Parts: sequence; C-alpha cells; structure tokens
Amino acid sequence: MASLTDSFKRRFSYLRLSVTDACNFGCSYCLPGGYSRACSPAAPLLPAEIRNLVAAFAQLGVSKVRLTGGEPTLRRDILEIARTISETPGIRTVAITTNGYRLKELAEPLFAAGVTALNVSVDSLDPDVFMRITDARSTPLAKVLSGVDEALRMGFRPIKINVVLLRGMNDSELPSFIEWSRTKPVHIRFIELMRTAQNGDLFAQHHVSTGPLCERLIREGWISKPREMDDGPAREFIHPEFRGSIGIISPYAHGFCESCNRLRVTSRGDLRLCLFGEADEPLRPFLRDSSQRPELIERIRSALKEKPLSHLLNEGKYGNTENLSSIGG
Ligand code: SAM
Ligand code: SF4
Repeated sequence: MASLTDSFKRRFSYLRLSVTDACNFGCSYCLPGGYSRACSPAAPLLPAEIRNLVAAFAQLGVSKVRLTGGEPTLRRDILEIARTISETPGIRTVAITTNGYRLKELAEPLFAAGVTALNVSVDSLDPDVFMRITDARSTPLAKVLSGVDEALRMGFRPIKINVVLLRGMNDSELPSFIEWSRTKPVHIRFIELMRTAQNGDLFAQHHVSTGPLCERLIREGWISKPREMDDGPAREFIHPEFRGSIGIISPYAHGFCESCNRLRVTSRGDLRLCLFGEADEPLRPFLRDSSQRPELIERIRSALKEKPLSHLLNEGKYGNTENLSSIGG
C-alpha cells in the first residue's frame, strides 16, 4: 500500500474534507456575526468531484475521512457524499463533525450511509450560555443533546464532544462536562481556543490555557493514556469509574505538530497543508474525471513536500485562516 509522508517523516492517513463554508450558527470564537455568502462565492465540490478526490487520497494510503465545514449537514446531498466516500475502496472510517442541529433526524441515515464516528460541538450545558456562545437562536441546546442521544442509540463510536474552553464563559462548567462521561460512552474534548483573523478581541479576553486542566484531571484520579502510533493531537485521560474519557487539545503546547497525521481540503477543493498555513494547492482542476488521477496524485505528493514542521501560532501568525468555518478546525 502506498503511503503519504512529508519531509519530516510524518505519515498522513487522515483527510479532513470541508464540504461547505456555510454555517447556521455564529459561534463567537469562530464566525462572529454569522456566515455571509459574499465571503465564499465559488460553489463547493460536487459529489462526483469528491469521489475522484477521495479515491486519489485512498490510493495514497488515506483510510479515514472526516466531513466537516462550516456545518456539513447544511448540504442537501450530505448523505450522497457520505455514501460515496464510505464506498471508496481503502476508506475504513468515515467521520463527521457537526454542531448537532440536524443530528436527531440525520443520525440514522448518516449511519446507514456509512458514517460511524461523530464529533459534536457542545460548548455549554447551560441553555443560556449555549445560546450566547453559538448565537443559535433557533436551535436550543436540548435539540443538540437529543441528537447526541440518538447517535449513541444508533451505535456511532467514538462520539466525541468538542468543547472550546472560554475563560469566564464556560470554564466553570468543567465538572458538568466531566460528569456527562460517567454514565455515557462520550469522549469530552476540551479544546484550547485558537487565534484567527476574526477572533482577536475574543481571544484576548477569553483564551485560557489547558495546562492547569491536565494537572487537575490527574489530581482527580484520571490516568493519562499512553499515545499510540496513529493518535491525533489530543492528550487522552481515562478513569475506572467513567464510561467515557476526556481529551485535551493544546495547540499552543510545545511539540503539538509533531504527531500531525492529517491533511485538509477546503470545500472548493484546495489542499491546505496546515490549518494555519499560508498557501493552498488547488486540486479542483484535476477532479473532473477519474482519468486525471495520476496528475492529481502527483500534485498531492509534491505539495506535501512543502508541509511546514509546525504552525506559528505562538509567534502570533495564523496564516490565511480567516476563521475555522472556512476549513473545519
Ligand atoms: N460546524 C461544525 C462544528 O461546529 O462542529 C464543524 C466545523 S467547526 C469549524 C469544527 C470545530 O472547530 C468545532 O468543534 C469548533 O468548536 C472548533 N473551532 C472553531 N473555531 C475554533 C477556534 N478558533 N479555536 C478552537 N476551536 C475552534
Ligand atoms: Fe459554525 Fe461550527 Fe464555526 Fe460554530 S464552530 S460557527 S457551528 S462552523
């Protein structure tokens, strides 16, 4: 089997594919003010283009694809996209990251279309704070949580709950989030807020480091899991009395990028080598027909040689990432 490696011997088996920039939420740390169509005039990739794209990555050894956005469930053809990817030879896992607003109705058809792993963003368990952070006026927290229950019932595994830590907004809720994982097999992942072009003021006011949280978990009897070969960037903690687990994602920590195993493609078919990189490699011109695959593969391989060792967030540089809705986090 072919494999994709970069100049630093990192192996890439995981593709995050954004299928839309659009979002129906306006999370204060991600899309303050909400989505504007004017930001992104080009149409997103069509299912046939996605088929060609994923087939090429699978040929290069990618075995896991995550659908993300924007909000991926806003695409009317999300089930067709999921099915296309899950039927691609070589793809073993199809995952989705969603804000959960359509999860209750979509859990069953997504599972039937071959999606088995799920990340749901739930930034607060307090309905008012949830509204304040997400600006999701028509989607109450209760609806998102019933979607998570439906996904648990369907058998999605793992189910990860993404919580972006925000000082003075949700950082007092850590005990409630942790308690959720006592009886349910959910993996709660606390994510350190990342600076983007659009969230400077919020970052200055609400960024909180995840370091003290790791120390607190260890004090409370959580055990840090040894890292395995293809693990992502989260530091994982388990506890004998809890069915779920806790993950901590610390993008500002030293060595965070050393275990990078993921590549990203934007909804318009640009290969993004680093979430906070400067340059994209346009792949769309090579997605029209499967006969273009050799050229497409060559493009991906040669672009990968340019993948940087690390982002430069600690130097205050966040590349061309306006917000994470444009690439999927
Ligand atoms: N709309 C979907 C959702 O919210 O799950 C998928 C896209 S969203 C960009 C993917 C993840 O990125 C979410 O868990 C979100 O909380 C996270 N995210 C967005 N902006 C972020 C930021 N500035 N720092 C850290 N995480 C961020
Ligand atoms: Fe939308 Fe997800 Fe960004 Fe929130 S985090 S604005 S749900 S893309």
